[in-house]
Amino acid sequence: MSSLKLLPPSEERSRNMRAIKGRDTKPEMRVRRLLHSMGYRYRLHRKDLPGKPDIVFGPRRKVIFVHGCFWHGHSCKAGQRIPKTNTEFWSNKIEANIERDRRQLEALSQAGWTALMLWECELRDADALRDRLTAFLDSIAPAAISCTGSGPA
Ligand SMILES: [Zn+2]
Repeated sequence: MSSLKLLPPSEERSRNMRAIKGRDTKPEMRVRRLLHSMGYRYRLHRKDLPGKPDIVFGPRRKVIFVHGCFWHGHSCKAGQRIPKTNTEFWSNKIEANIERDRRQLEALSQAGWTALMLWECELRDADALRDRLTAFLDSIAPAAISCTGSGPA
């Protein structure tokens, strides 16, 4: 086997790297495992949809985003913890993420998709999460009923 990665970074450093890494896949895995155990079938990261949603339910025209609280500027404690160094850089970056999320949700809904945003901090309670997923996935999306998107609902 390759011995390229034999020297691990220091524990502290690797913890920092994990915290700062852009794609936070662990919370997403938790949601996926749960969905799978509930018998839902889905696809991942469909590139043809705005925002490349994490989890896609094609026939239902529904998507789920699993958002890291820090990266997407959640109003919870973890989301408000801007690093003390390069504060402006980080807050600009997170502002931009929030703005992009907003645009993507808009584009999705205009294309007839319904989106559920799950925050990392909301995933701890598996029962509550299961209820939310069921409510979201088994409800009939308004977009699926009306064919013309404009006008009052
Ligand atoms: Zn949060």
